[in-house]
Amino acid sequence: MNPLRIERPETLAAALALLMNENTRPLAGGTDLLIERRRAPFAADETWVALSDLRELKEIEIKDGFWHIGPLVTHAELAKHKQLRHVASFLPEGASLVGSPQIREQGTIGGNIANAASCADTVPPLIALNAELAYQSVKRKRRVALSDFFLAPYKTILQHDELITDIYFPSPPPTARTSFLKLGRRQALAISRVSVAVLVTGNDVLDDVRISVGSALPRYGRLSEAEDIVKNLPPSQERFKQAGRAGSAEVIHTAGRRWSTDYKEPVLTALISRALCIACDIPWK
Ligand SMILES: Cc1cc2nc3c(=O)[nH]c(=O)nc-3n(C[C@H](O)[C@H](O)[C@H](O)COP(=O)(O)OP(=O)(O)OC[C@H]3O[C@@H](n4cnc5c(N)ncnc54)[C@H](O)[C@@H]3O)c2cc1C
Repeated sequence: MNPLRIERPETLAAALALLMNENTRPLAGGTDLLIERRRAPFAADETWVALSDLRELKEIEIKDGFWHIGPLVTHAELAKHKQLRHVASFLPEGASLVGSPQIREQGTIGGNIANAASCADTVPPLIALNAELAYQSVKRKRRVALSDFFLAPYKTILQHDELITDIYFPSPPPTARTSFLKLGRRQALAISRVSVAVLVTGNDVLDDVRISVGSALPRYGRLSEAEDIVKNLPPSQERFKQAGRAGSAEVIHTAGRRWSTDYKEPVLTALISRALCIACDIPWK
């Protein structure tokens, strides 16, 4: 068996230079990478580029009305971030439901995004926040809307020599309220079977409504038909149920009917309407 080499660059420039070589992979917390590579033998010159010393990728800050989250921020750090809990609680909530305490201490938001599983728990909230990514190689720097970053489950537009360097989104308005619901096979250490993230703004009338789902669509996205049912109207449980049915139908229309549809259809209907009720602080029955 070939030995695996691990490089630990001290600067972003050095990390990017290492990634120019074939058979290199960025290593963040390793919670996905180690699982992915545990069966296949390593290539002769396979090298993992550990990002752990790149302090500039570990910050959370607000600048000019935008939140910036470094890709190396761990789920545990996100989950306990007080200010984020205040302005966009569904993102820390999503992070707090990832795996187990050990996985949350180790796993990062950048790894969660780059791995591109359809059940990634930080992605639906980020899509609802209209998040964008900055990513770069030695040769160029680019930006992309997170919704355009994913091509298919486990496939993104990222080239092998590129690193995500920033995850950012506009600070939600003061009236914004959010919710995140995840349904797994069990209470702890559960991968999402379906998840729903909701952001609403406005009080008497909902002037903006964003609903995004995980483990449901071929590519991450929002449910615009469900959003339109509740937008520019006062919050009401009846209308939220209608939006739940429309959202579920929208998912089936996009993803097609498959073996899991009989299960997911009523579950999505309920999760969407319940997530809307929670965000608007009205009872769900
Ligand atoms: C037991 C267990 C339970 C889990 N439960 C959940 C769960 O409930 N919900 C959930 O969403 N996930 C879960 N996961 C998956 C995993 O923990 C997360 O996806 C985690 O966020 C991955 O981050 P990481 O830092 O460990 O990434 P790594 O494993 O280091 O990397 C993952 C991928 O991203 C690439 N990468 C990492 N950082 C960058 C970067 N900055 N730029 C470009 N590419 C990069 C790597 O090369 C690799 O391809 C679980 C995993 C395990 C093992």
